[in-house]
Amino acid sequence: MKATAPHAHGVTRQVEALREVGGETFVVRMSRGNLNFEPGQYLAVGIEGQIDAREYSIYSSPVQDFLEILVKEVEEGYVSPRLRALHPGQRLFVDGPFGYFTIPEDQRQAGKFLFIATGTGISPFHCFALAYPQLDYRVLHGVRRLEDRYEMDVFDRSRYTACVTREDGGDYRGRVTDYLREHPVNPDTLCYLCGNCDMIYEAFDILKDQGVSPEHLFAEVYF
Ligand SMILES: Cc1cc2nc3c(=O)[nH]c(=O)nc-3n(C[C@H](O)[C@H](O)[C@H](O)COP(=O)(O)OP(=O)(O)OC[C@H]3O[C@@H](n4cnc5c(N)ncnc54)[C@H](O)[C@@H]3O)c2cc1C
Repeated sequence: MKATAPHAHGVTRQVEALREVGGETFVVRMSRGNLNFEPGQYLAVGIEGQIDAREYSIYSSPVQDFLEILVKEVEEGYVSPRLRALHPGQRLFVDGPFGYFTIPEDQRQAGKFLFIATGTGISPFHCFALAYPQLDYRVLHGVRRLEDRYEMDVFDRSRYTACVTREDGGDYRGRVTDYLREHPVNPDTLCYLCGNCDMIYEAFDILKDQGVSPEHLFAEVYF
């Protein structure tokens, strides 16, 4: 979904730093000001002076005094290549936070979570891991190459499984949906899915067939 220009309600924020994290993907750090957000929410971000904006999940945690987003440069995309070309000191228009891909407080204490991501869909889970260190979770991260595991060290290693489709050396060779078929989940698990819609629709069906009720399935579709 493409966002309209955030200019009407958004504010400008200064770019503080960019860092490459592998696989044509980078992190944009920007000033936070007094913005409050819940882990799992997203922002609409555009370059100052330009009309287009796109949605990006917040990668950093509410306890940090900056905001970060994780962005993959999409070939022939409009906004993401322009974000990659940013320099510290430039300004972004930022609107939000938006969205309900969040974890209610009562579930954080007792719930068992399975986070399933493709590519940059790992971003809200990165935020959850930083913000809720006591959370009982596992992460399945679907990537093409090992370098697309980005900053995986934020996750407890025993809780993170990289499903790598095009290279050996990950935790599992294949797609996250193949992994799910081979490793059925406990029906009580709270399942959060984020990334491309093909994975999300397929994983929904697999999880429902394994007995997970639709009330325990939450999704954030990127494209
Ligand atoms: C709620 C929400 C949160 C999002 N969070 C993130 C995020 O944290 N990080 C992130 O990188 N993107 C995220 N996206 C996708 C992002 O908003 C843009 O669609 C993406 O950056 C491409 O924008 P663009 O202007 O460069 O390409 P466009 O000119 O808009 O489109 C180019 C094409 O690229 C496709 N596309 C979009 N994203 C990808 C991708 N990752 N890989 C391959 N093809 C893609 C689109 O379907 C489109 O056909 C999110 C989307 C939504 C709806």
